[in-house]
Amino acid sequence: MHLDLLEVLRASGASIEREISIPAGLLKDEWELTEPVTGRLRVTNARQNVVVRGKAKTAIVLQCSRCLSDFSYPVDLNLDVVVPLSTFNAQLGALRVSDDGDDGMELSSEDIELLFQEHILDVDELVRQAIVLEIPIQPLCRPDCPGLPEAQSYVEREADPRLKALQNLVKPN
Ligand SMILES: [Zn+2]
Repeated sequence: MHLDLLEVLRASGASIEREISIPAGLLKDEWELTEPVTGRLRVTNARQNVVVRGKAKTAIVLQCSRCLSDFSYPVDLNLDVVVPLSTFNAQLGALRVSDDGDDGMELSSEDIELLFQEHILDVDELVRQAIVLEIPIQPLCRPDCPGLPEAQSYVEREADPRLKALQNLVKPN
């Protein structure tokens, strides 16, 4: 999903709002989504900065760090990126993340570069970067996951009939 920001970039104070809708499936060949990404996004030209704000949710397939099985992990995404307006006139190498100290997503300049192709915002990439921030270091399929199943308990097999005769020999009558 891509969002053309040209109209917003042209006029100070302008903003656009869009529904986010990315079908379930693979996101950037990285994660398998078990639910579509849905949410809302607002992009505002705030004089010095372009402010991207929104919320979205989806669910992704993670591997449990204890039992190693795949499970669906729901994520609520806070989309929050502030980019200096000058970015869009400057060379890509001059991209900088705004350091106004708010609690937005902490993105490197490389992350920001990935988000924009000139005046086009790559919403998939924005969502991908937001998911990175939400992935637990040690995902668990459930809080009390017992871990890998115990080695199959040893099942005593019935004695080989050929041994029966020997057993009878040692058995006291
Ligand atoms: Zn587990």
